[in-house]
Amino acid sequence: MFPTTGGATGFRCEPGRAAVDRWRTAARVLDAVRRTPGLTRVALAEQLRLSSATTTETVARLRTAGWVAEERAPVSGRGRPTTSLVPAADGPRVLALDLRHEDWRLGVAGLDGVPTVVASGRRVRACPEEVGAAVAERGAVGLAVSFPAPLSDGHVVRSGELDWTTLDLARLTGGSTLRVVQGNDATLAGLAEARSGAAAGAGTALTVLVEVGLGGTLLIDGRPQTGAHGAAGEFGHLPFGDPAVECACGARGCWGPEVDGYGLARRLGAPAPADPRTFATTVLDRSDAPAVAAVAGASAALGRGLAGLVNAHDPDVVVLGGLAPRLRGAAFEEAYAAGLMGWRRAEPTPVRDAVHGADAALHGAVALALDEVTSAEGLARLAADESEQRTPAGPAARLDALDTEVRRGRRARSHEEVDRDRTG
Ligand SMILES: [Zn+2]
Repeated sequence: MFPTTGGATGFRCEPGRAAVDRWRTAARVLDAVRRTPGLTRVALAEQLRLSSATTTETVARLRTAGWVAEERAPVSGRGRPTTSLVPAADGPRVLALDLRHEDWRLGVAGLDGVPTVVASGRRVRACPEEVGAAVAERGAVGLAVSFPAPLSDGHVVRSGELDWTTLDLARLTGGSTLRVVQGNDATLAGLAEARSGAAAGAGTALTVLVEVGLGGTLLIDGRPQTGAHGAAGEFGHLPFGDPAVECACGARGCWGPEVDGYGLARRLGAPAPADPRTFATTVLDRSDAPAVAAVAGASAALGRGLAGLVNAHDPDVVVLGGLAPRLRGAAFEEAYAAGLMGWRRAEPTPVRDAVHGADAALHGAVALALDEVTSAEGLARLAADESEQRTPAGPAARLDALDTEVRRGRRARSHEEVDRDRTG
């Protein structure tokens, strides 16, 4: 889904198909527990169409390996007693690095996906050393990095005021073989809203973030549609703007520079601001007539473009993040309604404000890191890395050892479920 880069230590073998297949059932169970913490074992078996024996065995292995914990579930009606599954409080951890235009933050999270910020700073150049130290100290099993810049094939293709392209990502892993995955901040903010925010449960969701420029993502069943090179969602570069204005991307007439701090400055006849985000918040706080008119212009440009995206993508819901909720006034509503195709106006696609606020990209980066490490491929890689580093106490290696033991026992019993679980 997202571009992935390897760890810092160069060549390593990718686990083979058979090794990955062994982790498929465990990966599906971890995914279900992440989506629905507190899911009962009975409901899990039904949802994943697993036999009771396979469910019991997989859950026992994941519990022993430290990923999930079981709690006694209340019995309703005549139902059989069961347990509910929750992320283990002291289970494996992932790290998420949120690089922003003015600072950076490092969060740590378990399977529950809720980050705690453990380090931060203003000098982006200094962050590799601090992140590398945190990786070594905390024994994390994955790291995701959020960039405030477009990415293609895992590379920053255009840096803004800060030169992200020269940031040495290899140094982030502190010399370990930790996997690093990366995403664009607007895409990750959308991922956070789809998993645990204003777009949770939506089949098709469109998220739009206004910061410096505009970005977003189209999500289907909680998965961002990132295109052939991971570069999709650059909605800010749709030509919905003034063709006379050249965008920093090199194109003319982009939508982003109509709605952000640069757009507000142009409407006010002010020079391009050094910090467009701070400039935008200052203008949004003003109540004088020129500021109100400039904001109304940006609001209308946002509403009109959003209607175009809704006409194109037909989402269940639109979520606005960053500065965008502050641009929702009468001018926005009018332009949004006017831009929708006539038949849509009776029941316009609802537009909601994001719930994750300034932490959206951090939450999204955690979700991305967890998606990576709890996939069948991620679990197989983790097991391979741990056995290579001779850390048999690691969560995946423990799981692997248990798995082998269980299989030996099963073979002895010639149990018919072996094949079903293997292909699970
Ligand atoms: Zn552009």
